[in-house]
Amino acid sequence: MYTAIGYAAQSATTPLAPMTFQRRSPRADDVAIEILYCGVCHSDIHQARNEWGIAVYPLMPGHEIVGKVTAVGHAVSRYQVGDLVGVGCMVDSCRHCEACAADLEQYCLEGPTMTYATPDRVDGSNTMGGYSNSIVVNQHFVVRIPTGMDLASAAPILCAGITTYSPLKHHGVKAGHKVGILGMGGLGHMGIKLAKAMGAEVTLFTRSASKAEEARRQGADHVVVSTDAEQMAAVAGHFDFLLDTIPVQHDLNPYLETLKFDGVHILVGLIEPVEPPLHAANLVLKRRVLAGSLIGGIAQTQEVLDFCAEHGISCDIEMLDIQHINEAYSRMIAGDVKYRFVIDMATLKA
Ligand code: NDP
Ligand code: ZN
Repeated sequence: MYTAIGYAAQSATTPLAPMTFQRRSPRADDVAIEILYCGVCHSDIHQARNEWGIAVYPLMPGHEIVGKVTAVGHAVSRYQVGDLVGVGCMVDSCRHCEACAADLEQYCLEGPTMTYATPDRVDGSNTMGGYSNSIVVNQHFVVRIPTGMDLASAAPILCAGITTYSPLKHHGVKAGHKVGILGMGGLGHMGIKLAKAMGAEVTLFTRSASKAEEARRQGADHVVVSTDAEQMAAVAGHFDFLLDTIPVQHDLNPYLETLKFDGVHILVGLIEPVEPPLHAANLVLKRRVLAGSLIGGIAQTQEVLDFCAEHGISCDIEMLDIQHINEAYSRMIAGDVKYRFVIDMATLKA
């Protein structure tokens, strides 16, 4: 065991604050990592404030981790001390069920071990995430940062990138498809870039007319202001796919009406009950599909990093001193970040 530091919430109503705790010494298959950067995902806010009802305290968020390998267990073959690596939302899974065998560890039938607030499969301790100076992770759940990639702007690919890439790939998005991205925050801005790189015609749906110019700079071909009924009506029956990153309950019906027949509305932001209710006719009469998607498997997380390197895609980030993490949460809720905060972990030493 060794002593680590990080920022954690002690309860759903207390702000994040510094905390000292113990990280395990690397097991045979483990990689120890000095964390250099960690992205700030809206899921971190949901969890720190127990908005999903599954939080375990103390809760140390952070699952967009980039760092340098400092030690490896004796059975580690894939990484060496000094390698630049990433860790996303998961740190373990059963590794033998149908989902794990298909490289879909996020759907592990026994439940994946998440990077924070989940019991470790070996010793039962509560996992602690990346708002910290270090982490120790099984080598299977570690990915390689492509050579030459900017480390800070690579961090959000570990969650925002894979969460938007995975469903676009799964549903076969390609040139000629019309894709709508709902919400331009951390996930949404990556969704625009990735769908565009896959060849789709991309439209951003946003509440904020002021984001239109920015969205075009990200690669969006069109922008629809979702609060403007006329603009919504103008795109009725238009889209093959919608990727919905909105983090709160919202009316799905006006969006479903913008899909073609056989169109697919993919939820990634919402896990609460749909409210107001869904009009089933919006699905039935056009054979439309309402789908969901959870992050992506480890092999695909490496794939999206490599895809971003190949296509010159990076996240738009604002660097953050960890001392300002609570303000950053308020600003994210107000939609005041372009488009991902990334913590510079060097500031943890201050
Ligand atoms: P952000 O806060 O960065 O962005 C969310 C965007 O949604 C905002 O920028 C805004 O875009 C839009 N939005 C926010 N509030 C509202 C509202 N009240 N009504 C309508 N639109 C709104 O969040 P992230 O991108 O980090 O995360 C998005 C969601 O995805 C979160 O719920 C997160 O937990 C979830 N998530 C899911 C994962 C999965 O595997 N399924 C993985 C990671 C995250 P605009 O101003 O353009 O309207
Ligand atoms: Zn996330």
